[in-house]
Amino acid sequence: MSVRAGIVVTGTEVLTGRVRDRNGPWVGEQLSELGVDLAHITICGDRPEDMEAQLRFLAGEGVEVIVTSGGLGPTADDLTMAVVARFCGREMRLDAAVEARIAAILEPLMKRWPDLDPEAVLAANRKQAILPEGASVLDPAGTAPGAVVPPQSDGKPTVVVLPGPPRELHQMWPAAVATAEFQRAIAGAGEYRGQMLRIFGIPESEIAETLRLAEDELGPPFAEVEITTCLRRGEVELVARWQPAAQATWDRIAEIVGERHARTLFSTDGSLVDDQVAELLTGRSLALAESCTGGLMAARLIDRPGASAYVAGAIVAYADAAKRELLGVDGALLERHGAVSPEAAEAMADGALERLAADTALAITGIAGPGGGTEEKPVGYVCWCAKRSDGALLARSMTMPGNRTEIRDRSTTFGMHLLRRLLRGEEFPL
Ligand code: ATP
Ligand code: MG
Repeated sequence: MSVRAGIVVTGTEVLTGRVRDRNGPWVGEQLSELGVDLAHITICGDRPEDMEAQLRFLAGEGVEVIVTSGGLGPTADDLTMAVVARFCGREMRLDAAVEARIAAILEPLMKRWPDLDPEAVLAANRKQAILPEGASVLDPAGTAPGAVVPPQSDGKPTVVVLPGPPRELHQMWPAAVATAEFQRAIAGAGEYRGQMLRIFGIPESEIAETLRLAEDELGPPFAEVEITTCLRRGEVELVARWQPAAQATWDRIAEIVGERHARTLFSTDGSLVDDQVAELLTGRSLALAESCTGGLMAARLIDRPGASAYVAGAIVAYADAAKRELLGVDGALLERHGAVSPEAAEAMADGALERLAADTALAITGIAGPGGGTEEKPVGYVCWCAKRSDGALLARSMTMPGNRTEIRDRSTTFGMHLLRRLLRGEEFPL
């Protein structure tokens, strides 16, 4: 038997896109780890009738659990608790213990803002202590308590009411999961296992073909493993989820993927190429020379603890004069081959190795456009060169589609993979 859940994200700022929803996916991930199937994430503004319509919709779909995010604050438009209480057929009642708890949280705040009207603060405080009868109260992470509201009758969902600020929601989640009401609601959830495979350098259609072959071989049991694939930053991600009884089926699918994509499957343990490059750079010293990526490669590489031990630095050289002066690239070479050329990329890598006294370098120069392209070198034409001080070198040039942001983003991913291969002593091409 499977247990299904829905998530209602509230907040006009999220509905309008001013704030990007971070709670829906996060809660979805947590539910998945508990073996609960996420059916829907819905988003509505702060209007109570819209929120109620979404609760009705999810209950109509037969989900066992609904998680709401947002609308627990002290202001008048924070109505989630009242809407959920009405939906669950429960009275709202002042909880004196919760009121005292919030007052204690607010005390230092009142001292810090002596001009605050104590009456108004108390009124707001009291509003947040009025909760659905029979609910399990979740201790505030900020000032707002959450709640797990059990259904009045069998077959209706249990509703978990959580605050909007992601940090507060994260903090409150374990307490919500620990309540008897929540555990009762997910009692039928099965055990799930999961794995992510990452592949670089193939189109998504290739993995689709691989999965078709696996299905042909395995027959109906193939369907026991839930597989989704997506293309991110030029990498194909394959996410699988299965119950213990389907372990052998997944093992065989993973084997088939491994065989068909032996050279391009680079991660089976969830690691990112960034993690792998960081690991491979241990004990080394990396210098970057960036033109069209404007420092994005450096930003990705220093985005992890301990990077100062192996990232020497980055030289962002955009204009030809900067490539000459900062990286020592020969002006005649630029004249002859152009600033976006395999020759310029290698000269930039040499310059970075020398100027930053490093043992490993990566250079990227390209035309991220718009307007900078020619017939011979169109927008999207990018040259990479990864080089070690012992002379080992991997270089590549190609034209990729997309707008400036996409080209830059994929250029850094491509750079990561080139570095990974160089450091592992692998041969290009893909
Ligand atoms: P508060 O007491 O802060 O008002 P609340 O529970 O009423 O808490 P909201 O008013 O819905 O929460 O949201 C407060 C702020 O939290 C939002 O302005 C937004 O910055 C952030 N936030 C809310 N929901 C989300 C979400 N789904 N994803 C990311 N951030 C969110
Ligand atoms: Mg609010």
